[in-house]
Amino acid sequence: MPETAYTTCPLCEATCGLELTLDRGAVVGVRGDEADVFSHGFICPKGASLGALDADPDRLRAPRIRREGKLLPASWPEAFAAVDAGLTRVIREYGRDAVALYLGNPTVHTLAGGLYAGPLIKALGSRNVYSASTLDQMPKQVACGYLFGSPYAVPVPDLDRTDFLLILGADPYSSNGSLWTVPDVPGRLRALQARGGRFVVVDPRRSRTARAADRYVPIRPGTDVHLLLGLVHELFARDLVAPGRLAEHVAGLDVLPELVAPFAPAVVAPRCGVDADTIAALATDLAAAPRAAVYGRIGTTTVEHGTV
Ligand code: SF4
Repeated sequence: MPETAYTTCPLCEATCGLELTLDRGAVVGVRGDEADVFSHGFICPKGASLGALDADPDRLRAPRIRREGKLLPASWPEAFAAVDAGLTRVIREYGRDAVALYLGNPTVHTLAGGLYAGPLIKALGSRNVYSASTLDQMPKQVACGYLFGSPYAVPVPDLDRTDFLLILGADPYSSNGSLWTVPDVPGRLRALQARGGRFVVVDPRRSRTARAADRYVPIRPGTDVHLLLGLVHELFARDLVAPGRLAEHVAGLDVLPELVAPFAPAVVAPRCGVDADTIAALATDLAAAPRAAVYGRIGTTTVEHGTV
């Protein structure tokens, strides 16, 4: 008799709720959990494949140690002894930075990963620690560290109170917002449009989100920084910068006009492939909306100038 079990998808930070169908312990069905407060039933292809992942015959279910060129089954005490011997030798001969650690998404989203990764990193003492974050949004976190004082203070749009949203290099229809972790992105974006708001997607690819947008602006890959500098140039050139009540929280605004002076829309247009009129129109949209937001994700961070 199949049973139903509920869990949280460990495969990314969107943390979607999943409804599993189990038959004698085997996962035979995976659906998004409609009642989950974070995801409202959303599921992506990765989450939907959890059953196949669980039953994959190549999945590592017990430790293995390479002996005479072959990976052979081993007990946990043997495995820990091998790790201890290997790490100790490398650290003694080459120093702590000769060891690198990679924490995969399914690990960091488990309780064990959350509890033990920190002590392990501390014990190893290596500067070379990598994760899905370092492959993905670390430039954004570096920028947030400088801007807001913490690499974890990543701002996300307040979608329910936004009138104009400019999305760059993000496809929340497919990712459920990822870092944003906002339930039912499609429904909220439709609600934004229904109350008279608009959203524009800038992306080299006409993504699912781009297809639903009020406007899709194709861009040359890796050139978002040129578009953004052109936008800032345009906002200052047309005297559209009005920080209002936020002025007391903003530092360095006075030096920006000089910094962006070389990046007029006509100058950046050939670099990013977005024409100057479109850049001017985006600046107008941003300035005219009562509540506007700009949201950039992986497409803007896994590129040169990803911190800008
Ligand atoms: S977006 Fe996909 S991978 Fe990420 S938590 Fe949701 S179902 Fe899992």
